[in-house]
Amino acid sequence: MKCYFQGCTSIGVTKEHIPPKAFFPDNEKEQLLTVKSCTEHNNAKSKDDLYVLAQVCMNASPSNRAREIFLEKVKPQLDFNNAALRKLLAKDAVKLQDGSVKYDVDIKRFDDFFTALSCGIIFKSCGATLPNNFEVNHIYPNFSSQQDNYLELEIEKFYQGKPMTFMEFGNPNTKNERIYTVEIFGIPEFKSSLTIVHLFFGKFKVISMLTNKM
Ligand SMILES: [Zn+2]
Repeated sequence: MKCYFQGCTSIGVTKEHIPPKAFFPDNEKEQLLTVKSCTEHNNAKSKDDLYVLAQVCMNASPSNRAREIFLEKVKPQLDFNNAALRKLLAKDAVKLQDGSVKYDVDIKRFDDFFTALSCGIIFKSCGATLPNNFEVNHIYPNFSSQQDNYLELEIEKFYQGKPMTFMEFGNPNTKNERIYTVEIFGIPEFKSSLTIVHLFFGKFKVISMLTNKM
């Protein structure tokens, strides 16, 4: 069976969880999806998964569920491996005058993560890898540097109406606080551009735009 990643022609030799297992408590993993991955696209980047999860939790407040996941999944990992994750999160952080800390976000790491996640979601819902003529871009409305209401309103027009697929992961402890839900908008069989709306804890949104360049 082929690898799930866009443009990859290698054989999938390992099993990859989508969304990543690292995002879910042990008793909420059974419903996760898996895809086959080649060694190159095998997410051997558990540090990246945790980095993204930490940033998502930190930017999803107020959410009790995000705080619980942070304490259970991220905090115990912060000081492993010579505090690699802690150092990564603190990189370029700035202490503000009121004593709070503003954390910088590594957008490249986020882009790589959401491209892989989008490829996995598309592979599962469409039964094929994303064709090469699709360009992938991501928008992060929760990050203040990208907060631009006008832009976000324009982009929301791309995905109005009924999604072609809707999936949800993680048992909700409280209403609207599933760990991850995803909607895909567009026309099946890659006949149009696609928009994937990822939502974490009902609060942190990422919009992936898969644009058909043909
Ligand atoms: Zn691959």
